Amino acid sequence: MEKVFIFGHKSPDTDSITSSLVMENLERKMGNPDAKAYRLGKLNKETEFVLNYFKIQAPELLENIEEKEKVILVDHNSFAQSVNGIEKADILKVIDHHCISNFETATPLYYMAEPVGCTATILYEIYMMNKFEIEPNIAALMTSAIISDTLLFKSPTCTKKDIEAATELAKIANIDIENYGMEMLKAGTDLSDFSAEELINLDSKELEANGLKFQVAQVNTACIEDVLKDKEAIEKAMTDFINANNLGLFMFAITDIINSNSKAIVLGERASIVEKAFNGKLEDNMIFLPGVVSRKKQIVPVIKENA
Ligand code: MG
Ligand code: MG
Ligand code: MG
Repeated sequence: MEKVFIFGHKSPDTDSITSSLVMENLERKMGNPDAKAYRLGKLNKETEFVLNYFKIQAPELLENIEEKEKVILVDHNSFAQSVNGIEKADILKVIDHHCISNFETATPLYYMAEPVGCTATILYEIYMMNKFEIEPNIAALMTSAIISDTLLFKSPTCTKKDIEAATELAKIANIDIENYGMEMLKAGTDLSDFSAEELINLDSKELEANGLKFQVAQVNTACIEDVLKDKEAIEKAMTDFINANNLGLFMFAITDIINSNSKAIVLGERASIVEKAFNGKLEDNMIFLPGVVSRKKQIVPVIKENA
C-alpha cells in the first residue's frame, strides 16, 4: 500500500498535532495502516505538555512533500499554511473547521468541514458515524484539542457540539476538564524560552484579502505586560518578517486567557486597516482589543472586510 502523510498547519498548535495523530488512528480503523501522522514545525509548550502528560510520542517532522504523494490535511486547507510542495501533492482528504479560500484539487476528494470550534469535534463525529471505539489515549488527545481551540469553551468559536464532544471524550479519557484544562492552557503561556523571532512564529498564519498579503500571529498569556517586556525585539522581528515576505500588514495578538482580552502589536504599510477594523487608534504600534480572543472569528474577518 502507498504511504499517506497526515498533517495539520505550519506553526502547529495542539489541534493540528493531536488531530494528525487521531486521524492516523481513524485511518487504521478504516483499514489504511500506511497512513502516518506528521508535524510541520516545532511543538509549542502546550502541545508538549499534552503529549508528555499522556506519554504519547510526537509525530515526525515533515519539511516538504514530493509530487503526487498522497496526503490528508487536518485543521487547515489553505496552501499558504500547508507543507511545501502541497500544490503538486494528491490530496485524499481534508478534515477542517476553517474558511475555504482558493482551494483547488485535480481529483475528487473526501472533504469534511464544519463551523465548529475544533477539528477534534469533527473527528469525534467520524468515530460516532462509524461506530468505532475511542481508546482513552485518543480521547485524551481530542479533549485537549477542544480545550485548546476553544480556550476552555470561552472562545466565541466554541459551539454546543464542541462542549458535548469534549464532555463525552473527557469521560473516556478520565479527565477533569476544568483542572486539566487550566493546567494545560497555563503550560502554553510559558513563553520564557522563546526568542522574539520564535514568538512571532509560534502560532502564525499567512493570509490574503483583496491583494493584501498579511500575517496574524497570536500567543496566549496570563499577563500581557510580561510579553510586552520584549516589545522592541518583537517589533524588530516583525519588521524583518514583513520585509522578507513582502507583507502589507503584520498583527501580533497577545491574548490574556484569564480575562479574555487581547493587545496587538501592529506593523506594516497598511497598519491603519487595523484601526479601521477595530475602530480604534494605534498607540506605540499597539491596540487594545477588549473581549477579543479568537483570530478566526474576531480578527481575520474584520481585517479582510477592511482590506
Ligand atoms: Mg489550528
Ligand atoms: Mg483547530
Ligand atoms: Mg489556534
